[in-house]
Amino acid sequence: MKSAPSKPSRRVDQLIRPSIQRLHAYVPGEQPRIAGLIKLNTNENPYPPSPRVLRAIKQSVDARLRLYPHPTAQGLRIKLAQLHGCSAENVIVGNGSDELLALATRAFVEPATPKPATRTRSAQTVQFFTPSYSLYSVLAAIQGAIINAVPLQRDFDLPPINRRGEIGNWDQKAAVSYVTTPHAPSGRAYSLAQLDSLCRTHQGVLILDEAYVDFGPQHAMSLALKYPHVLVARTFSKAYSLCSLRIGYFVGHPALIEALDKVRDSYNVNGLGQIAAAATLDDLPYYRLRFRKIIATRQKLGSELAERGFEVLPSQTNFVLVRPPLFPAAEWLAKLRERRLLVRWFDSPKVSAYLRITIGSDREMKALVRAVDAILKH
Ligand code: PMP
Repeated sequence: MKSAPSKPSRRVDQLIRPSIQRLHAYVPGEQPRIAGLIKLNTNENPYPPSPRVLRAIKQSVDARLRLYPHPTAQGLRIKLAQLHGCSAENVIVGNGSDELLALATRAFVEPATPKPATRTRSAQTVQFFTPSYSLYSVLAAIQGAIINAVPLQRDFDLPPINRRGEIGNWDQKAAVSYVTTPHAPSGRAYSLAQLDSLCRTHQGVLILDEAYVDFGPQHAMSLALKYPHVLVARTFSKAYSLCSLRIGYFVGHPALIEALDKVRDSYNVNGLGQIAAAATLDDLPYYRLRFRKIIATRQKLGSELAERGFEVLPSQTNFVLVRPPLFPAAEWLAKLRERRLLVRWFDSPKVSAYLRITIGSDREMKALVRAVDAILKH
């Protein structure tokens, strides 16, 4: 991912697997170095971790940093198990949920072979709905898997499921299927009943990626404990203001958790992150208050943008997907950036008419609406 000092010679190129030479790496949202830019492009939380969490981190910054952290983040696993009413064997902690999504392809998906038979084909398939989190296809490509990308409906709802639980060309036996719920980048939520019918007849590993779940009314954690093939992915990044410390986790059947555990690095979760996440779980009311605030800000921003001619899609997350008026979305991206506001635009067919805007603080949202008014006046 780092830029090389000079273009590698052909000989050096040959040292790299052809699939990695061809790989289009995941492109994260811009992390600006310019001071004063308002950052509404990577769905970070505008509010800091709780004072109790910051204290716990600061009190741990001493000579103990020379020691390795707990290899399985056991203290945190136990606390997460208590939170979700399961046992520690149902939980694995990762270096962000991104790491666990990657481990899932490594543990469950066979690399593709030329002309596989239908049965082997499923074992080599990574599947997801489109559009959704663009990392999924990158992970599949790294593993050398077959990709089955199944389009969502126009309104980003799941495609209709028939009585046998089938959806168009959705492969129920695909080795790994990722479902982002609530959906990103649209913000749309799927009901527990809808997700249950998707899981019920599925046979491969199905990962419900609930990165944004705390900003909506419903979650599907129960499905990870009901179905042996279902894993629920969560993160401390968005709702719990800990992007920087990289903590995510999966909940699911102990056999799947054990398989993931086998393929992870020995000390995959940093010590300060383990401490911070455990302290977060001791201070949940602080965070719940902020979820309510972010939801209220989302509603206010939604109506302000709608009044100004934006199409605002309903959201159960900490961002909104909006179709701006007058100019193409890419132009809005540039115009907002000129005014020191960073939002996200995706150059992909179903969403290129939209901007994704993270819900920020009141001050940030006011600055955004002011910039929108200025752009509309020109
Ligand atoms: N899933 C989705 C849908 C996301 O948007 C993100 C954040 N980009 C993640 C997972 C990963 O979050 P993290 O690695 O910070 O836990």
